[in-house]
Amino acid sequence: MNVLPFLEGLWQTSVEAVFPPKCLVCNTFYARQPSPSTPESSSVSDITALHLCKSCRDGFTPIVSPLCSRCGFPFISRAGEDHTCSECLTEKRYFRKARAFGVYEGSLMEAIHRLKYGGKTSLSRPLGALAKDTFCQFWDASRIDLLLPVPLHIKRLRERGFNQAHLVNREWAKMEGVPFDGLTLSRSRWTEPQINLARTERRKNVKGAFFLRHPDKVKGQRILLVDDVFTTGATANECARILMRAGAEFVDVLTLARAV
Ligand SMILES: [Zn+2]
Ligand SMILES: [Zn+2]
Repeated sequence: MNVLPFLEGLWQTSVEAVFPPKCLVCNTFYARQPSPSTPESSSVSDITALHLCKSCRDGFTPIVSPLCSRCGFPFISRAGEDHTCSECLTEKRYFRKARAFGVYEGSLMEAIHRLKYGGKTSLSRPLGALAKDTFCQFWDASRIDLLLPVPLHIKRLRERGFNQAHLVNREWAKMEGVPFDGLTLSRSRWTEPQINLARTERRKNVKGAFFLRHPDKVKGQRILLVDDVFTTGATANECARILMRAGAEFVDVLTLARAV
C-alpha cells in the first residue's frame, strides 16, 4: 500500500471535518464527495465540487439540443433537431454561432452575480471549468485563432477591479493553446447597463460602443468572443459586426449563461 496518498487523503478528510468547504454561491458548509484528484486531471465536476455545494451544482440548467443552430436558444419543445429560430431568421446576425453552458437563472445566475458584483473572484475557477467544458463541447481548439473577451468600460473596470470575462476564460484558453487577447477589442464609450433596456433600445445602446485598437490583428482570423451572459445578443452582435468589418473570417460567441 502506498502510504503517502493514504496519509494525504486522511489529512484532507480531517481538515474538512474541522473546516468543511464553504459553498461560494450559497455560503453553506458542505461535505465534499468524492475527493477530487490533482487539478490537472480534475474533471469539471471535480472542480465545481471543490467550490460549490451539491444543491447549487444541481441548480444549474445546462443548455442541450434541440437549440437554435445560430444563437443557441434552447427550444421549449424537447423533441426534434437543432434549427434556426424565428429571431435569427429575421434579424441580422454577424456572429456565426453562439453557445452557452446553461440557462441564466438560479444558482448559475447567482454565481455570476457574486463574481461580477460581489467580487468573489475565486468563482472564476469553477465557472472557468464550465466555460472550458462548453468550449470543448462545441469547438475544436485548432479551428479558433483568437479568443477575445467582451470589454468593460474603463469606468466599470475601475469600480470592479477586473473583467469577469478575463478571469473566467484566460486560464483555460492558455491550457487549450488558444491565444487570448484582452486588448484589441475596446469599448469607446460608456453604455447604460443592458439589463434595464428593451430589445430595440439594447441594439441602439451598444451601436458604435466598441472599436478595435489593432484592426490588423483580427484580419482573416477565426474569432471566439467570450462573455458571461448572452441576453438578446445585442452586445455580441455589435462586437461581431465590427470584427467582421475588419476582415475576421468568422466570429463565434461563448458565454457561461444564456437568458431564455
Ligand atoms: Zn451552495
Ligand atoms: Zn436563434
